[in-house]
Parts: sequence; structure tokens; C-alpha cells
Amino acid sequence: MAMIVGVLGIQGAYTRHVEMLARLGNVSPRTVRFADEFDDLDALIIPGGESTTFTILLERWGLRDRIIAFLNSGRPIWGTCAGAVVLCSRILDRNKEVDIKPLCAVDVAVERNGFGRQVDSFEADVKIELAPGGSAIFNGVFIRAPRFSELGKAVKALGWLGQEPVMIEHGNALLTSFHPELTDDTTIHRYFVGKLADAKEEVV
Ligand code: GLN
Repeated sequence: MAMIVGVLGIQGAYTRHVEMLARLGNVSPRTVRFADEFDDLDALIIPGGESTTFTILLERWGLRDRIIAFLNSGRPIWGTCAGAVVLCSRILDRNKEVDIKPLCAVDVAVERNGFGRQVDSFEADVKIELAPGGSAIFNGVFIRAPRFSELGKAVKALGWLGQEPVMIEHGNALLTSFHPELTDDTTIHRYFVGKLADAKEEVV
């Protein structure tokens, strides 16, 4: 049976994730917007967008508690860019207008727009190592990307821009500060869906 992977579709760059997932085979992508749509999902992606807007909408639509329950169920969850901000534990740059309340999926601090406004967007090689000893180069698309720091002991880095971790994992949660869905390369989407197979094995 196809795995159902939800993409939070309330704001931001969600359609490209749906298109990437559709290319994988054996995955049925689904855009989710309402609290009652999470139950039969096998995994969930929170896309890029604006983390301040996500904070307001998650609260207003009653989705915050729903996503926390999803996390606690052990199913895989992946945040890209603003989605990574939503899933971190601490925000280093306090926003005066909107207090972002992160969901604490990954023990890491995040600085929003951390790569500096003068280079709001750029593409650069990211070295990824998704299996021990098997590194590869992935085209990282960074758009006002967050910067990760203060990684907790249980957090594993899987991708680096130079020396800096830009793809990290903590248990069932994966964060990328860049946008793999804006490339043609399905490697990281495949990796995420692979996590789902692992999570299922653990349950059995
Ligand atoms: N800077 C945005 C934020 O902090 C993220 C931008 C993006 O998702 N491309 O919400």
C-alpha cells in the first residue's frame, strides 16, 4: 500500500513538495490543512514560507497541538526552511511583532534569516552524508534561510555548507535550512520516505 505523506498546505512552498513526492512511487502525497486530516498520515512535511505566518495560522486553526501529537506518535516529520524554524527548540532572533513558539521537535537553536539580508537567496553545494561513508553533493537552494546552532547531543548533522550544518536530524524529525523541493533531485525526499520505513519497522 502506498505511504501517505502529508504536506502542510496552509502557506508557503508546498506544491513543489507534493510534486517531488509524486515522483517517488509508492508514495501518495496529500496536502493537509485541517486538524482532522492528520490521523491517517504516515509522515508530514512542513514547507518553507514565513515562520511568523505559520505561528499565527497554526494557533488560529488549532493545528499546533495536532502537530505536537503527530511528533509524539513517532512518525517522521520534516521541516524545510520556515518549516525548520517552526520545528526547532529555540529562536535566537526575537521577532517583536510575532512571538514564534517553536514546536521543539529538534534540540537546536535557530537564527531566522541567519545568512544575512545581503545574500537573501543563493545556491551552493551542500555536502550530504545520508549513509555512513557515502557522501554526495546536493544543490542547496537557500532563500532567507535560517542558521542552526547549539545542536543538542542527540542531534545528527547530515548535510553541511562548508563546515556549517544545514541538514540535521533528531529522532523522527528532519530539518533542512535549504529547499530540496526546488531542485530536480529527489535524493532527500527519498531519504525522508526511507525514515518512514524505518519508523514502521520499529513499531512492528
Ligand atoms: N525567513 C523565513 C522565516 O524565517 C523562511 C524563508 C523560507 O522559508 N524560504 O520564516
